[in-house]
Amino acid sequence: MHKLKKTIALVGNPNVGKSTLFNRLTGMHQHTGNWSGKTVSLARGCFSTETVLYELVDLPGTYSLIPHSAEEEVTRDFLCMEQYDMVIVVCDATCLERNLLLTLQVTSVCPHVLLCVNLMDEAEKKGIHIHLKHLEKQLGIPVVGTAARKRNGLKELTKHLRQTSCTAPENAGSKSLNKSVEFSEDDTLLFSELATELSLEVISYKNSDYQKKDRVLDSIFTGKHTAYPVMLLLLALIFWLTIVGANYPSSLLSTFFHWGENKLYGLFSTLQAPSWLISLLVTGVYRVLTWIVSVMLPPMAIFFPLFTLLEDIGYLPRIAYNLDCPLKKCSACGKQALTMTMGFGCNAVGVTGCRIIASPRERLIAILTNSFVPCNGRFPTLITLITLFFIGSKTGLTGSLCAALALTGFILLSVLMTFAASKFLSATILRGQRSFFSLELPPYRRPKLGNILIRSVLDRTVFVLGRAVTVAVPAGIVIWAMANIPAGSGTLLSFTAETLDPFARVMGLDGVILLAFILGMPANEIVLPIILMAYSATGSLTEIDNLKYFKELLTDNGWTVRTALCTCLFSLMHWPCATTLLTVQKETGSLKWTLLSFFLPTVCGILACALVNIILS
Ligand code: GDP
Repeated sequence: MHKLKKTIALVGNPNVGKSTLFNRLTGMHQHTGNWSGKTVSLARGCFSTETVLYELVDLPGTYSLIPHSAEEEVTRDFLCMEQYDMVIVVCDATCLERNLLLTLQVTSVCPHVLLCVNLMDEAEKKGIHIHLKHLEKQLGIPVVGTAARKRNGLKELTKHLRQTSCTAPENAGSKSLNKSVEFSEDDTLLFSELATELSLEVISYKNSDYQKKDRVLDSIFTGKHTAYPVMLLLLALIFWLTIVGANYPSSLLSTFFHWGENKLYGLFSTLQAPSWLISLLVTGVYRVLTWIVSVMLPPMAIFFPLFTLLEDIGYLPRIAYNLDCPLKKCSACGKQALTMTMGFGCNAVGVTGCRIIASPRERLIAILTNSFVPCNGRFPTLITLITLFFIGSKTGLTGSLCAALALTGFILLSVLMTFAASKFLSATILRGQRSFFSLELPPYRRPKLGNILIRSVLDRTVFVLGRAVTVAVPAGIVIWAMANIPAGSGTLLSFTAETLDPFARVMGLDGVILLAFILGMPANEIVLPIILMAYSATGSLTEIDNLKYFKELLTDNGWTVRTALCTCLFSLMHWPCATTLLTVQKETGSLKWTLLSFFLPTVCGILACALVNIILS
């Protein structure tokens, strides 16, 4: 049977559960999290009933149809210019008054609107009652109460959609618009007065002090004397749990893969495969892939859920709030702290996330400095080198605590370098006044463990691991080929490494390490594996089944604590990966800024490494 097709726009303030509702209806996995600004572009998904195929468009969160930032413009432009049939305005039941302003604006310009009052479960817990029927009568549009996370109220919502789609002609929403919406100051004032009046009529409170718990928590997490110590403690705790927890599964995995390697050799020998093929597939591909999985998977499987937990509880915007003061001193925007935390996941995502910053000057500063914070592709390099070289003979609790503190130190350095680079830019080529912004501190929410696991495993761990593996296979083949193509008196690999060597030595590295950073440009995840491949291709060591042997391989090739320190520093500060560079080009539309985003961290990295090298030699 031919189904009717209807397009529905999902609009609402940030952090009201639009993406959760979108995911619940479409069965997709759009990123959700307890902070504003995570959806900066629109996402589309479909679901159908017996007769209608619905295309749902999740728009970036906006407080009003008068846009104040690039992502708010996306929403306004969609509502004014695109073709759609209906709008669902999603509101947060726990702070309905503020959400009603947008609702009133949308109803005044779009003919077919449905109001979804979400987070009804949270409102109930806080003793807030919303009189939905009265609200429906006053607004003159259908109103449905939902708790999208628990799927409550979704049936009623789809029932209303079906009813409205039967009555609304095709593309009814957009036909009347196709023009830009202009609201004057007076209109906005009138709307906000109406919103206050309406909310007085439809909201009743059992307990007016329902925000007390949040205020107590805020006095700790954002308090004058406690904010920074708590932030550092939380960071160190996450790193410590990651390092301690990753050790055992890592060694289990590498023992298993080593066993697999022997079996693979046996199999190839039985099949009488040529030795070059065995060397290509086993040394060039299998060993690198299994190294990536055994070294990267366990820390990621622990770090990402913990990070997502902080995101879900509502801690990330508090970090932005705490870092607003130092960022203000750099004439940058406090929201940059949010894009920095996104950068810990992936710098390309962090760069796109800079759309939440309204001022073009401050957005550029945030974009150009984003790669100073290490993305998760660089964490395994830092963790591995710290574990191998910086905690000495200390084992057990002391060793892991030292490693966690060292990692916290590196992260702190990356944050300080971001501030320094932002200050440098705002004092030179990006001079200007600091703009004002408002940042909503969301309520603390009890995390949903199932969601956290799914999101951190699907969105982050599998994504990073998949990217590492896809890039590592061709890189493995390139390295293997370079190690087997004769050049000069050795191979192409040794020749290239030797050529780079004098320059690398100035920075406390060697030619192989610098080559690994260059070849690792498609993805930072593969820098250490390339170093491993390049050293083992020169025949120093053939069996690497755990970190102890890896350290031996490195020290056999002249590594000292100084080399490890310089490699960590260069890992923190060098050119962004190819994906991030492309994203910078896309976001800024300018080769000049893309080149600057390449050279700024690289020059800082070269100088920092050279300085450390001189001091320590
Ligand atoms: P968006 O910014 O509007 O897309 O909001 P998200 O879908 O990312 O949700 C924001 C936060 O609210 C997340 O932590 C969600 O898990 C949470 N959330 C969404 N809907 C509900 C709900 O119905 N009840 C509760 N308790 N939490 C919800």
